[in-house]
Amino acid sequence: MSNETIDCVVIGGGPAGLTAALYLTRFHLAVTVIDGGDSRAALIPRSRNVPGYPGGIAGPTLLRRMARHATRYGAQIIQATATGLERDGDGFRVATSSGTLTARSVLLATGVHNRRPDIADDDHADALRRGLLRYCPICDGYEVSDTRVGVIGTGAHGMREALFLRGFTADVTLIAPDGPHKLSPDDRTSIDRAGIALADGPSGQLMLEGARIALDTAAGRLDFASIYPALGSVIRSDLARGLSAKMTDDGCLLVDDHQRTSVAGLYAAGDVVKGLDQISHAVGEGGVAATTIRNDLAERAPLLRAARPEPA
Ligand SMILES: Cc1cc2nc3c(=O)[nH]c(=O)nc-3n(C[C@H](O)[C@H](O)[C@H](O)COP(=O)(O)OP(=O)(O)OC[C@H]3O[C@@H](n4cnc5c(N)ncnc54)[C@H](O)[C@@H]3O)c2cc1C
Repeated sequence: MSNETIDCVVIGGGPAGLTAALYLTRFHLAVTVIDGGDSRAALIPRSRNVPGYPGGIAGPTLLRRMARHATRYGAQIIQATATGLERDGDGFRVATSSGTLTARSVLLATGVHNRRPDIADDDHADALRRGLLRYCPICDGYEVSDTRVGVIGTGAHGMREALFLRGFTADVTLIAPDGPHKLSPDDRTSIDRAGIALADGPSGQLMLEGARIALDTAAGRLDFASIYPALGSVIRSDLARGLSAKMTDDGCLLVDDHQRTSVAGLYAAGDVVKGLDQISHAVGEGGVAATTIRNDLAERAPLLRAARPEPA
């Protein structure tokens, strides 16, 4: 690993981090991406709402293209896990599983991790690939239009997800994960009015049955064309906690309109920030963060390019 101070260390090589790396390197800044290699985008069998890909694009293909685009201009991508982040003068020291880096600025683009329902790992991968299990109704609700859909969840979060999906299909069942549903009277009224079926839990392990996905509930075995877990996410913002960056109660980083966290020199973009968990949003925030980083670094010391011969 380099001993030199890097202009920006980007932690996370998903759509947000890779977009920022592309912009930063095209600003003639030295950028290193530290990536643990488990972007949520890698789980997408085929996304159909990424602008510019009318036939859809597989998540791993998109990530490969974005990485190629950033490295083409000089971004360095290191497959490693960032394990610590601390102040070092005006900048930061980033500890990783392959060594320590020092940086003038850091962008956290570490994303989130969806809580999974009870399902074997192999079945989970197979169900995702076949669209039997889905995590993002904004992304792929269109694909389940007029099919039989189950949502595992309860409370206000489960209700909101079920109501959102009701915009795509008339056949939605909200399944409580742990026992009887925990719904306020108002939530129950909204669910009844929308014609959403309720099934009490505990919900059993998900099973793949031909072209269907099934599970046992208190009401017996139910099967669906697709199931959406609405079990919440773990926000990967731990590295910012040690620096006391401001975050929401569930750990989403709070940023200003230019992706600055409450810690000088620390920026955040993508799912780890409170906002819409979407590729287009992550890409937009990555571009905004990179431009802010460039301009903030220029305030600290003007970024003036040395004279060079004009390219032929
Ligand atoms: C099944 C599924 C389908 C989806 N479909 C769509 C879709 O069709 N359209 C759409 O717009 N969105 C979709 N999404 C959402 C989309 O994947 C995310 O919004 C997007 O990937 C967020 O990008 P990001 O860069 O913020 O985070 P991520 O893509 O999750 O990338 C975060 C990266 O940070 C790395 N990281 C985390 N912590 C560390 C650490 N300590 N050290 C080093 N690296 C670290 C991880 O390894 C990961 O590579 C889908 C999500 C899922 C799960």
